[in-house]
Amino acid sequence: MKIAFFNTKDYDRIYFNQENCRNEHDIRFIEAHLNENTVNLITDETAVCVFINDCLNANVLSGLKSKGVKIIALRSAGFNHVDLATAKKLGLIVTRVPAYSPYAVAEHAVALLMTLNRKIHRAHNRVREGNFSLNNLLGFDIHGKTVGVIGTGKIGQIFSKIMLGFGCHVLAHDVETNAECIAAGVNYVSLNDLLSRSDIISLHCPLNDETHHLINEDAINLMKPMVTLINTSRGKLIDTKAVIKALKAQRISLLGLDVYEEEEVLFFDDFSSSVIQDDVFARLLTFPNVLVTSHQAFFTQEALTRIAHVTLQNISEFEQNGVIQNGVDIFT
Ligand code: NAD
Repeated sequence: MKIAFFNTKDYDRIYFNQENCRNEHDIRFIEAHLNENTVNLITDETAVCVFINDCLNANVLSGLKSKGVKIIALRSAGFNHVDLATAKKLGLIVTRVPAYSPYAVAEHAVALLMTLNRKIHRAHNRVREGNFSLNNLLGFDIHGKTVGVIGTGKIGQIFSKIMLGFGCHVLAHDVETNAECIAAGVNYVSLNDLLSRSDIISLHCPLNDETHHLINEDAINLMKPMVTLINTSRGKLIDTKAVIKALKAQRISLLGLDVYEEEEVLFFDDFSSSVIQDDVFARLLTFPNVLVTSHQAFFTQEALTRIAHVTLQNISEFEQNGVIQNGVDIFT
């Protein structure tokens, strides 16, 4: 199938070319993000491959349809950036990669927690400057702490088990309980109970109408005064302004983010020679107890291999057998 591959980085080319080594598909890599201005870059491709920071609103989807596109292959698990109702109305197939490496994301959440707690990022800079002082590098034992996990699907389950391995008490909140988590020793509680009892809270639920700004001022007010908050899920789960207020009031002790509400215009690109225009994000970066990575939790060799494999397999199944494998619709 002819595929217009938007928003391409070097690592995408490497892993997708490797997966397409027998040239089953005719892939054209395009650097630009997909949006209303770039939809015209499609020539005769019937498939597009896009990432989470591409725009798939109603206008773009109509543009894709008029260009003759039949299938939109998301090279991501998340699909909250797609207007699924319009895609369905237009008869556009949307596929995704439901699970590539849940270990990658769960392990990154642990990395954020450990780095923040033991101040590894600050210690690294200090030692390189010949400063061997331990002042302000004090951490706490993770062992024995209560960890609240919101969302115990594939990633939350692995994160919970890692935390149990550290000797933590793990509380969870989810709309559905996970039998494997219960068997491992996780205790399901109400959201308010989790917020008020946890020393460390990690978010692993999807972004939807119910979870938008799940962590807002009211939720923060329920939390322990020196809570640690980790978000590797989706930026809009957190009301960033409320979190900044809590950081200023020293109500949140440590904040680790791999995702940010308005990340679409920042993440995955190099702005090191520009001025950041987002004042909320810029304020976040001023706190010594905040660590931000740019949506890299998924970024392991295993995950990229799997993403390339499943994305192209989704397209092949549709092309060869008319089968919609890993399809996303409005009811998913
Ligand atoms: P999953 O579908 O396996 O699990 C999500 C869990 O959240 C499910 O158990 C679901 O029941 C639960 N949930 C749904 N609504 C909820 C609510 N209102 N309150 C509490 N729990 C709720 O998904 P997953 O593979 O574990 O991924 C979790 C999230 O991680 C994704 O939605 C995605 O946003 C994010 N993610 C981030 C990265 C990254 O690189 N940072 C990579 C992959 C996924």
